[in-house]
Amino acid sequence: MCRSHQNMPMGKYVNLKCGSCGYSFTHGYTPGYVSVLGVSKKQCPSCFTLNDTSSLPYSKFTSFDRIYFWFGRIIRIVIRGPLYGSLLGYGVTILFDSQNGVFIFSGAIIGLFANIILNYFSIKDEISRIEREDLTACKPHISDKDHIYTSKD
Ligand SMILES: [Zn+2]
Repeated sequence: MCRSHQNMPMGKYVNLKCGSCGYSFTHGYTPGYVSVLGVSKKQCPSCFTLNDTSSLPYSKFTSFDRIYFWFGRIIRIVIRGPLYGSLLGYGVTILFDSQNGVFIFSGAIIGLFANIILNYFSIKDEISRIEREDLTACKPHISDKDHIYTSKD
């Protein structure tokens, strides 16, 4: 599968195309990024070619992939939670015409924990959904280590 990244003013855009016919899985450039977590193969709805993606389901991750995956996710959880929480706290501060930062501070703490809980479940869901999708996308094959050797006496 061909993927092209393009930096546009509003952030990162990605375009996933079929390697055979050029069909765009993302319908042109869409905001986003290619995650390490994803189905390993995707069938083109236009020409039915099975495209390899650069992603893998979680069960096929190497230890490096796991570290990379969790590091990226945790960074985003830890930054975004308190950010949105403190913004909410700031709103409450204005609403109550409060002079101290207690709402902003507690908003940041609540935001952090709420985001950890929400993401824990959404990442778990994402992992199992991709695991199932990958099983249906990949035709069953026997790898070398799965061969059953029978000895003849
Ligand atoms: Zn195609």
